[in-house]
Amino acid sequence: MTAQIVVVGSANVDVVVRVERRPGAGETVLGSDTVLASGGKGANAAVAAALLAAEVALLGAVGDDQNGELLRTAMGKAGVRMDLVRVTDRASGAAYITVTPDGENTIVVSPGANSDVTVRQVDSAADAIAAARVLLASLEVPIPAVERAVEIAAEAGVRPVLNLSPVAELSPQTLAALDPLVVNEHEAQWLLNGPLEPERLLGLGPKSVVVTLGGRGALVVEAGGSTEVASPQVRVVDTTGAGDSFVGALVTRLAEGADLVTAARYAVRVAAVSVTRPGTQRSYPTRGEVPDSEG
Ligand code: ATP
Repeated sequence: MTAQIVVVGSANVDVVVRVERRPGAGETVLGSDTVLASGGKGANAAVAAALLAAEVALLGAVGDDQNGELLRTAMGKAGVRMDLVRVTDRASGAAYITVTPDGENTIVVSPGANSDVTVRQVDSAADAIAAARVLLASLEVPIPAVERAVEIAAEAGVRPVLNLSPVAELSPQTLAALDPLVVNEHEAQWLLNGPLEPERLLGLGPKSVVVTLGGRGALVVEAGGSTEVASPQVRVVDTTGAGDSFVGALVTRLAEGADLVTAARYAVRVAAVSVTRPGTQRSYPTRGEVPDSEG
């Protein structure tokens, strides 16, 4: 069976504790019971796509430990194919999150096994990448592996989509292959080293760019011009993971042959549902909850 979408990216267990206030240096505070959840940018986007009925495989790495088991079980249950996920002898990636009553959080990410995603692993998955319709990459795994995956996809005529998160420098060759490069406003400003001037983003090389604009929706920038895609107005409960929900939905529609603006219109509707519910992967809607047309 071939996956229509291959996602190169991270899988982390989110370890969440609520605290009354954050501890200072050298201080200990008591927190709530621990909540464990499957997370990481790659896993989030893969789960978002699988729930929308895409055939999707994660290309990544987890540890041979309880967290790795939790991640594999959660992703498998959502319908993500796991045969390109390597199990390594590092600890699984984890994000240690404290949340205070004002809703602010602090996060320490321990990449662990995600750092074991290698160019060699990507090369050994070359056939699966070449057989897909879309490759989606994000940057919580080593950049050389991401760049190799984009190169394999581009050579095979597979559409490479990359979410520049967390923000990092990419080679001009990688940037030039992307269709689209997906950035939020901060990442766009970082890339431009100044204010958001959408047409300048194309000057950096990508064939197209999608800028996500939070509650305002997204901007699709193509050679022929820019298109604003407004978000539905919703009652926001928790925006965590909204960006990953957006890209998961975007690549789902692109893999089905939709044009970029149509895919972005779908993605803002999916992400809008995700922000009305608590949590990350558990806030993502199924295909039945977000029909293709707004009618
Ligand atoms: P995050 O880091 O929270 O995952 P991000 O910073 O990568 O997100 P945003 O631009 O904040 O990216 O959000 C991504 C998409 O999620 C937006 O394009 C929009 O479709 C949706 N979204 C985010 N916030 C809201 C909101 N308040 N109301 C409706 N949709 C939202």
